[in-house]
Amino acid sequence: MVKRPQDTDTRGLLRPELEAMPGYESIEPPDQLARRLGIPVKRIIKLDGNENPYGPSPKVLQALAEYRNYHIYPDPLQRGTREALSRFLGIPFEQIVLGTGSDEMMDLVLRAFLAPGDGVINCPPTFGMYPFLTRVAGARLIDVPRRSDFSLDLTAIRAVAAGAKVIFVASPNNPTGNVISEADLDALLATGLVVVVDEAYVEFAGVKSFAGRVAEGVNLIVLRTFSKWAGLAGLRVGYGIFPPSVAEVILKIKQPYNLNVAAQAAVLASLDDADLLRERVRLLVSEREELMKALAGVPYLKPLPSQANFIFCCTEGVEAGRLQDELRLRGIIVRRPDSPVARDCLRISVGLPEHRRALIDALNEIGGSLGTSG
Ligand code: PMP
Repeated sequence: MVKRPQDTDTRGLLRPELEAMPGYESIEPPDQLARRLGIPVKRIIKLDGNENPYGPSPKVLQALAEYRNYHIYPDPLQRGTREALSRFLGIPFEQIVLGTGSDEMMDLVLRAFLAPGDGVINCPPTFGMYPFLTRVAGARLIDVPRRSDFSLDLTAIRAVAAGAKVIFVASPNNPTGNVISEADLDALLATGLVVVVDEAYVEFAGVKSFAGRVAEGVNLIVLRTFSKWAGLAGLRVGYGIFPPSVAEVILKIKQPYNLNVAAQAAVLASLDDADLLRERVRLLVSEREELMKALAGVPYLKPLPSQANFIFCCTEGVEAGRLQDELRLRGIIVRRPDSPVARDCLRISVGLPEHRRALIDALNEIGGSLGTSG
């Protein structure tokens, strides 16, 4: 009789470091939260995912409703979307590859460049996907914390660069909202590392993208997304801008059908409605400034100026975790960054003016109940 393998046999074959590693701390979907709190989902104010409260362009909704070929596989070479993006960005077609969110592009970059044990530099507090994907890739995570003003510690980066291959830098950074300068980028490129600049929020930043600096012979990759400015987070569309020879390998190693047909149709319709989407970005930027003023008036919060669609706030005299719980009880969800250096802080997405008013009312009420003035 064939011996039936026991569960423990298979478990013993797993890569041991995967059992030990922390998972990615995901956000709770609003319907799950509403069920847990026993309130209608419409009452949830979702300020934890840096999503676009205006949603997708109406042209996207129409394109998806009218699309008929959902039964046909998408183009593995993504020609239609790459051509449209190339025209939109003024970047050659050969340099662009799209994927299931910029998260997938990060994973592809790591697969393309890393051999087991290679080092990846991460500069916390920053986006938790970088350490998560580095660990899954079996690479070595090298943390170089940011300085107290959340700028990059270039001296410390240079000191460890020789033992690493890739560095991830978000600009604007999540959760702190600050950008890197052109001089910072030059310093990073001079290390010889593969420099991955993640520009998920650049449309809100009032600065130029570094995409134009990506070229053959330059060790720069720029990642961007349709999740934030174009309101397509749920459809999962991101892209990378690579030196042409790197783009060729990324195209070769990606799953052939990674960008599904709905996502492709949504990209084309969004680019066709870019003026409306840019106008919404302008509204969000001015709402960010209103939110900044309002948060600065809450006595126990210290909000940081931001160039993204969220504001990073540290708390004073109130535990950030407790404040997050109190807001959640009132149906308002904000994010507590998972980086240990930012545990006394919250990240609050920019929503609509009525979201701000409800948030500030709740913060004032909570301040009273927690015994802080105001
Ligand atoms: N980069 C940063 C810095 C982010 O904060 C996020 C979203 N939280 C992403 C990338 C993910 O983007 P996408 O939805 O395109 O995967």
